[in-house]
Amino acid sequence: MRKTVAAFIACVILPTLVLAYFGLRGGDDLERRQVELLRKRARTALERTSARMRRTLTERIQAAERLLGTGDTRVLADAEQPFFFLSAGGASAAPAPREMPTEEEKRLLRYSLAGGFAEELGEGDFLAAADAYAFFLSALHTPSYRAQVIYHAARSLGRGGETALAARLYEEVARADPSVVGPDGEPFVALALLGLYELGAIDKSAAAERLGRLRYALAPEWRTALYRRIDAAEPPADPTVESACASVRTLGRVPEAFALESKLFLCRAVEGGPIFAATWVAMALPAEEAGDGISIAFEPTAGFLYSGQEAPPRRPAGDELCAERLLSAHGVPVGTAVARSALVAEIAAAARRQTGWMYGAITALVLIAAAGGFFVLRAMRTEMRLARLKSEFIANISHEMKTPVSTVRIFAEMLADGNLTEDKVRAFSHILHAESQRLSAIVENVLDFARIERGQVVLPMAPTDLGAVLGRLVESFNARAAREGVRFSAEVGAAGGLQSNGDAIACILQNLLDNAFKYRRADGHKVSLQLARDERGITIEVRDSGLGIPRDAQKHLFEKFYRAHPENAAVRGAGIGLALSRALARRLGGDVRLQHSSNEGSAFALVLPAGEKA
Ligand code: ADP
Repeated sequence: MRKTVAAFIACVILPTLVLAYFGLRGGDDLERRQVELLRKRARTALERTSARMRRTLTERIQAAERLLGTGDTRVLADAEQPFFFLSAGGASAAPAPREMPTEEEKRLLRYSLAGGFAEELGEGDFLAAADAYAFFLSALHTPSYRAQVIYHAARSLGRGGETALAARLYEEVARADPSVVGPDGEPFVALALLGLYELGAIDKSAAAERLGRLRYALAPEWRTALYRRIDAAEPPADPTVESACASVRTLGRVPEAFALESKLFLCRAVEGGPIFAATWVAMALPAEEAGDGISIAFEPTAGFLYSGQEAPPRRPAGDELCAERLLSAHGVPVGTAVARSALVAEIAAAARRQTGWMYGAITALVLIAAAGGFFVLRAMRTEMRLARLKSEFIANISHEMKTPVSTVRIFAEMLADGNLTEDKVRAFSHILHAESQRLSAIVENVLDFARIERGQVVLPMAPTDLGAVLGRLVESFNARAAREGVRFSAEVGAAGGLQSNGDAIACILQNLLDNAFKYRRADGHKVSLQLARDERGITIEVRDSGLGIPRDAQKHLFEKFYRAHPENAAVRGAGIGLALSRALARRLGGDVRLQHSSNEGSAFALVLPAGEKA
């Protein structure tokens, strides 16, 4: 049995599992290969598209570079491009570091300022003061010195009524380097704008607009004061530029280029100062369809990144096939071109579905194999049990026949010897008759059983006198009871007649009574035969006070060759009596049943249909 189970596992379960494993792996492989193919196409498309995107960005950057590259703040101030000044500190109070005025220049500046102030405060002659301020202009080269004296000269001219001349000078200062500041951080460029406004040379909106471009380079207190002077509301800050300024301040220096919130900022140091001219380039690019369900989108860099800095690692989303970082010419990671395809999700879903089906099929296969195995094993066990019972049957039947055969042989020999009294001869003849009857009963039983097994038994139904059948049986078992010391009682009343087969009924009851006599305890054994008749049929019950039948044996009682008391070797039998009886009874339209059984004894019943009374 163990071998069979091992063979079943080896031949059915293991191959099923191996097949399942390769099936599942095959599904996975297919999915991988499909996605790989898609990825390959996406890579080619991405190369093409990212090159195009890089070109577009480069063009935009170059345009901005050209603007900044002029280095001319006057060009910048008039530019269409969003443009502003920026300083790492946010203010331009520090003196321009690259300005290196000579000692002579410093002296000349002092003279100019002193002369101008003297004229203004003393005589109140503003034109003379303007003269004095501008007196050494040709000898001054440092931008902030020149801006200072021109600014003062313009202011004096304005006060002196020379407004046109004053406006021209203011304009010159206003277009100068915005990093030019006075000794107390006075932003001359912004102050010149204010002068122009106060002269009426420019209106409020122009003044506010031009001040706006300077505002990121101004110290906050100057900025607020200047807006108040032109009586204009300070424009709401551009959040991107604000955060760019904040990032630059955190960094502590102004990088040549940096990316922030889908904008690339380009900065150029303004000649001689800590102020930078800055502009930005939009990096938003439209997504492109690359065929095969692949679309390529440009994802601008998030956060503040400048050249040489590594972009933070990005986690590819579910439908992403491949991605490529794009760097600006300055080495700023401006963003990533990403190839995506909805097909990835579709392939994954299809693979999931396929795997689901596969699992279902495998489970069904394993279940079917297990169920098949279970039934095969059960059938095998039954067969094996039957084979064992058959061999027991042969041993039993041989044993059962041996006794009468040897009795017959001994008594026949004694009779053949002669020299016997007449009484002995009669007694021996009775014994011979009884034993040969027993033998033929055994043989009959076996033959009947064999015939019924083969389905060859024909039971002709005829009017049967049940009283007569029972009478003969009772007579025979009375004699046996007397011989064996068994108390046998029979209550058959008016048994009557029925349409049936008398021989079959006799055979069945013979078996039941024989069992009731056989399976008994030592003493005081009782057997009874009772008949009950009602409109449904006839019940003939055989009761005994014998061994009883163990509970778990009861369900096998009517199986062929089954013996419930094999350990009881003294009781002979072949295990076919009950099987034969039930088969015969069913042929007659009735049945044989175990009514009950316990330690106290058992009761079997033959039930017959009423049929027509004979
Ligand atoms: P057997 O030839 O062994 O008597 P049967 O088919 O007539 O074969 O009976 C099957 C088994 O049922 C018997 O071996 C016995 O163990 C059990 N059996 C039958 N009748 C009785 C009974 N009246 N009391 C106890 N056991 C019984």
